[in-house]
Order: sequence, then structure tokens, then C-alpha cells
Amino acid sequence: MAAFDFIALDKPRQSDLDRCVHCGLCLNSCPTYRELGIEMDSPRGRIYQMNQVARGEAAIGPSYIEHIDLCLACRGCESACPSGVQYGRLVEAARAEIEAATPRPWHERLVRHVVFERLLPSRFLLRLAGRMLWLVQASGLQKMIRSLGLLPGRMKDLDRLAPPAEMPDFFSSYGRVFPAEGSRRHKVALLGGCIANVSFARLNEATVRVLTKNGCEVHVPDGQTCCGALHVHAGIRDQARKQARQNMDALLGQGFDALITNAAGCGSTLKEYHDLFEGDPAYGAKSHEFSKLVKDVNEFLAAMELNPNLGPVRRTVTYQDSCHLAHGQKIRAQPRKLLQSVPGLTLKEMAGSDICCGSAGIYNVLHTDMAMGILEKKMANVNRTGADEVVTANPGCMIQLRAGTCQHGSGQPVKHVVEILDESYAAFRS
Ligand code: SF4
Ligand code: SF4
Repeated sequence: MAAFDFIALDKPRQSDLDRCVHCGLCLNSCPTYRELGIEMDSPRGRIYQMNQVARGEAAIGPSYIEHIDLCLACRGCESACPSGVQYGRLVEAARAEIEAATPRPWHERLVRHVVFERLLPSRFLLRLAGRMLWLVQASGLQKMIRSLGLLPGRMKDLDRLAPPAEMPDFFSSYGRVFPAEGSRRHKVALLGGCIANVSFARLNEATVRVLTKNGCEVHVPDGQTCCGALHVHAGIRDQARKQARQNMDALLGQGFDALITNAAGCGSTLKEYHDLFEGDPAYGAKSHEFSKLVKDVNEFLAAMELNPNLGPVRRTVTYQDSCHLAHGQKIRAQPRKLLQSVPGLTLKEMAGSDICCGSAGIYNVLHTDMAMGILEKKMANVNRTGADEVVTANPGCMIQLRAGTCQHGSGQPVKHVVEILDESYAAFRS
């Protein structure tokens, strides 16, 4: 059989572009427009530029690339749009078209190849990188460099955004099955992520504990790999497809009731695998089957009757909506419901909780100044709540918000919803 041609899927579709009626109701929900006040850095302006390229009225040149690159792909505009414009799909496709049309200098090509095609899908290389980072952090070298003030301005920001390394990593749990506590209600698979396996190993373990407490037999399938979300956001769709095929082959047909992720950014892409394979005779139907099984951990737990053995967690927290949970997956009430089920916990809402914190995958590393400007405003809202902790639902947001609480707050801890539940179960005394 001839290989399926994905070219039509890898550029903005005219039918998607045509949904925009240029009303501008999305502008105020766009962090880059709020920051810069420039129409071309608003959702409406970006769609206008995509239309120009689609009609052949403008070239894919430096100006277009800059405005599309500066988008956080946070999809805040998608929630605000009354016409149902699927902006996330548009910007991802625009980036894929740019990727295909723009020859990059050799050093950029090399970095992208190493990061996206070698490091992220490789368990061996992620473990190696994690161990090296752990050595730098555990040896005190990182602390010394910080205290001596050896890092210049931008490097200081990048250092604050460096993911932590946790030992042992979560890859050591791959291939394991964790039995349900009490009678088994569900058989689920946990997707460990890529960087999260070394930077959020304890969060993944907490996720396993909370799920098993709630009657889930948790499998961590050995054949899984990075979901490809970072690739899709960067326009590197063929590599994303390669990884998606591996995940579908490894996870479908195993009798799982759900494929669970604790990372909102991954969840959006996993639930939209069908956008990558539309019409593909080999994986088109499978991608729909796969996407239907994917559940964010908040969504999954909030839909069941929770194990009530929750102990007190006496703190006030505020919740930051992860963009790919609130806007990408329309999941807003569920994490709040879970937090409100914890005895002793007070949830204080912040203004603009569903506006991006500036993390956006690796956006904060590529566009550090913009990301830090957005973060500063976010932290003003966090601080106004007076909360002891910030809670969110995505590891990438946790890194960004931790940088924010250190730089603009009082160092408030930043936790995942699941970590609060885990703490509450641990505090239960019968
Ligand atoms: S995805 Fe976010 S940053 Fe991009 S245009 Fe929409 S609201 Fe603005
Ligand atoms: S994306 Fe939606 S809200 Fe924004 S200008 Fe177009 S139709 Fe209006």
C-alpha cells in the first residue's frame, strides 16, 4: 500500500480559517496581545496572516514566522471565541507548514534533531540527562553558581526554569503493575511522559498511589514513549506521528478502561491524535479509539466516587488552570471539585486563573522575556489571594510557577492536584 500523504493535514485548513468572523472577542483573552497590544500578535491577527499565506498573498517569511512563533498556543482564544474557531489546530498546522517551508541553519537543525528526535523519545538519553542534572543539583554546584551570582541576566531566568532531577526516576516503574487497594474497579494505564519521568518522578508515584487508593489496577506499560506534544507544538509532526504510532501499538487492545495522564499538555495532544492521522488507512480509526480512552487524572477521579478516607490538609491554596486542561480539554470544574473534597483545605480563586502563566511547553525557554513578563502579572494575582500554596495540573506549569513564586512571591510551594490528594490520603487516621 502506498504511504499516506499527510501534506493536507500539515497546513491550516481553509474551512477552519473561514470560521473566524474577525469580531475581536478573543483579543482580551490573549496573553501576547495583552502584553504587546499589537494586532498581529493577537489571535485575529494571526488568523489574518494565515489566511494571507493560504491565499498566496503573503510569503512564509520572517515576519509571519515571528508572529506565529510568539503565540503561546495556550488556546485561551479558543475558549473566548463565539464562532468555534479551533485555534489550537490552526497554529499547530501553521507551524508544521513553516517547518516544511523554511530551511533552518545547520546548528538549529542539529539542536532540533537532538532534542526532538533523539532525546525526548529515548529512555536511555533522558535517564542520562537526568542523572547529570541530578549530580549538578545534588553536588551543590548549582547552588554555588547561584550564590556567586555568576549567571548573567537571561541565564538567570533560564536557570530558574531548569527542571529538577529526581532520583530514582520513574522509568524504573515501567513494566510494573500496581494492584488496586480493595476490590478492583478499573484497569488503567499510566502514561509517564518524557521529561516528567526524571523531573516529576515523585508526582508520577503519587498519581499511582491515588489511583490505587481509588480501586484502580495501574499498569505502566513498558512499550510507551513520549506523547509527541512538544513536537506537535513545534510543527515537527512526522516525528510526533512516529511516537503516536508506538503509543497506539503499545496501549490499544490491552483491555484498559482508561489511559491516564497527569500532564494537561500531554493530555490535549493524546486526545487529539486523530488530528494527526485523519484519513490515514493504517492509524486513522485507531487514533480515534485511542483518543477516546485518554483521560486526564482530574477528569477520571472527579467522575468516580472518591475513596472517602481523606485526612485533613489545613492550608489555603489557589488554583491555576493549566491552559491545555481548561482551554484544550474544557476541564475546569473537576480539579476544583477534587480540591474541595479535601478536609481542611480552603480554595481561594485568583483573578485570571485561566490566563496562561507563560510556560507553554518550552516557550519559556525560547521566548524568555515574554514568558517572564506574563509570569510577573500572574504572580501579582497569585499574591493577592494570600494563598499558602499554588496548585495546578501540569508539570510544565509547575516549573514556571515555581520560578514565579521564587522571583515575585514568598516562595510559596507549587503542587499538582494529585499531590494534595495523596497528602490527604496519607493524613487519614481511621
Ligand atoms: S493561543 Fe494563546 S497566545 Fe496564541 S493567539 Fe490564542 S490566546 Fe493568544
Ligand atoms: S477567533 Fe473567534 S473571537 Fe477571535 S476574531 Fe475570530 S471569530 Fe472572533
